[in-house]
Amino acid sequence: MTRNRSAPAPSVGLADPVRQLRGVGATLAERLARLDLHRVQDLLFHLPLRYEDRTRLTPIGSLRPGTSAVIEGTILAADVVFGRRRSFLCRVQDGTGTLSLRLFHFSPAQRAQLEPGKRVRCYGEARSGATGLELYHPEYRVIGAAAPPLPDRLTPVYPITEGVSQQRIRTLCSQALEILARKPSTFEADFTEALRLLHGPTPDISLADLESGRHPAQRQLALDELLAHHLSLLDARRRVRSQPAPKLAAHSEALERFRQSLPFPLTAAQNRVIAEISADLAVGAPMLRLLQGDVGSGKTVVAAAAALIAAGNGAQTALMAPTELLAEQHARTLRDWLEPLDLKVALITGRQRAAQRRHEAARVSSGEAGLAIGTHALFQDEVTFADLALVIIDEQHRFGVHQRLALRAKGEQALRGGERVPHQLVMTATPIPRTLAMSAYADLELSVLDELPPGRTPVTTAVVGQERRAEVIERVSAACRAGRQAYWVCTLIEESDVLEAQAAEDTAQLLGEALTDLRIGLVHGRLKGEDKAAVMAAFEAGEVDLLVATTVIEVGVNVPNASLMVIDNAERLGLAQLHQLRGRVGRGAAESHCVLLYQPPLSQTGRQRLKVMRESTDGFVIAEKDLELRGPGELLGTRQTGLVDLRVADLVRDRDLLPVVQARARELLESDPGQAERIVERWLGSRARYAHA
Ligand code: ADP
Ligand code: MG
Repeated sequence: MTRNRSAPAPSVGLADPVRQLRGVGATLAERLARLDLHRVQDLLFHLPLRYEDRTRLTPIGSLRPGTSAVIEGTILAADVVFGRRRSFLCRVQDGTGTLSLRLFHFSPAQRAQLEPGKRVRCYGEARSGATGLELYHPEYRVIGAAAPPLPDRLTPVYPITEGVSQQRIRTLCSQALEILARKPSTFEADFTEALRLLHGPTPDISLADLESGRHPAQRQLALDELLAHHLSLLDARRRVRSQPAPKLAAHSEALERFRQSLPFPLTAAQNRVIAEISADLAVGAPMLRLLQGDVGSGKTVVAAAAALIAAGNGAQTALMAPTELLAEQHARTLRDWLEPLDLKVALITGRQRAAQRRHEAARVSSGEAGLAIGTHALFQDEVTFADLALVIIDEQHRFGVHQRLALRAKGEQALRGGERVPHQLVMTATPIPRTLAMSAYADLELSVLDELPPGRTPVTTAVVGQERRAEVIERVSAACRAGRQAYWVCTLIEESDVLEAQAAEDTAQLLGEALTDLRIGLVHGRLKGEDKAAVMAAFEAGEVDLLVATTVIEVGVNVPNASLMVIDNAERLGLAQLHQLRGRVGRGAAESHCVLLYQPPLSQTGRQRLKVMRESTDGFVIAEKDLELRGPGELLGTRQTGLVDLRVADLVRDRDLLPVVQARARELLESDPGQAERIVERWLGSRARYAHA
């Protein structure tokens, strides 16, 4: 309960590494880095998760079980007792009542310290124990007759990590606050005030406000942090746009030949987006465009058209997919479409044999292949491009903002000569609401494919409890006997691909026993590359009726004859992921169905989520509902969107601030670029500097 008074050395400033603080050596600095704490000022932005009120003494007589409190009293007796577990029990009295301190782990020094007759001050949660009210392992200190003053502020409880105690973080944060107080800093006075308040609020401040994240001081910091991210993205955009890029004129006959060669007419939305892209490519500044289109809206064909435009100018395109599965599928589709038009495609993935990969890489560096498709392996050192002019990143939602910017830097390096920057097209199926998109992708122009190809019958969705599993299996059997194909998706709560693979294997086995006349395939993340590819190819070729899979099939997989999807334990997945998965069916003309099998009892939000899935197939509607259903403080999981890595702000909770952020950012860049730079520096400076450490 002591407040550590060790003052920081006078020379230390906010921008110095945490190593400069007292008590921080190399080991601790490493652990702090795990909390994203690199510089002294990062500690200021490391805000408490909650607070404890230790500003008042509670008389033992009025202490209720289940509440945490500070008590003070005299030790009546102290003994080691042998119950079910050996413990050290210390009886304390304050004139209004008595209680016991119980320690299961204790040292001889502690026994010597807690002697009858001594006075102690303790903080802990009261419980009803064997001797009446007890405090298990309270924080305590032995005090003299003149008790030291109680803190006048609420006590912060910080996020911590292994090897960094709460006490240690408190000491470090208070050192950072002292430095803030004495050094002139670039922080505005009210910003400094908000930081002070949040690290040590006075007891009159509403804990409920603080804990919901809606206190004005928190909102002020959240606004500032969102502003920092927005400004840094706008700045990234400005920097990229100021560099020269290859001018790629679209040859209308070539595009027309492409349209003619496709087995379907393009939708109006596809034509519009292709026109937007052609216009961007024809200017000598790098295109930075986000193509947002719901699953199945036909983004691949747009990518193909863009690659054709580049090839028409003798330049190359790189198409990057988040998984090998998807890269391979793209390679098959795009070879079919583009090779007849004389645009050669190379495929480079991490799981190819070395010789094969070298061969494909050679086709890229000689310029023979005009389109290189791959995973991030595409940007590894072994692949050099003859003349890279366009980079397309598919299913962007699998990459966070920072990854995206890192990829961009790699793409820029990969361009031979280095003076010209490739054009960039980022494609995503995550239908995030517009305000969020404008923040997370502030560096990009937005194109939207808001129309599905015609002839699709919307997927009908049923929500079914596990007790009707047998019926569902029967349904799979009927669909496959009628010549259709089906998916059975296994989900797990834990993100462990070992357990998930096991669950999928078990399910495949059981389904195999129940459906002896079906050809069943199995894919999961633990399969070897070639094996996975072989199963997928067999499913695409119609040689497998039922594909049992983990969520690895979530993105991109395209088998139009598959018209039934069962999602096992659907209640475990978020709306965004359910929507992605369901997008694998309803891709052909046949009527498609999705069965969400759940394990009762459903939680309140679980029930609402499944209801949303049953009632809507529109990605944007689902995304809006997704936001509504997330409670305050429930962060957008990185798995689900991975939009922005924030310390204080919460894109969902604070989304009403986003329009303000967008307006303020534009204004600030006009009127006070110096201040804009300081805001970015204080929130993101460490990351930029330490990202590669
Ligand atoms: P996504 O936007 O999810 O990446 P895809 O590009 O995989 O969608 O396209 C989904 C399916 O729709 C593919 O089978 C594709 O060939 C087909 N498709 C794309 N555009 C059209 C169109 N204009 N008319 C009919 N089918 C189309
Ligand atoms: Mg796609």
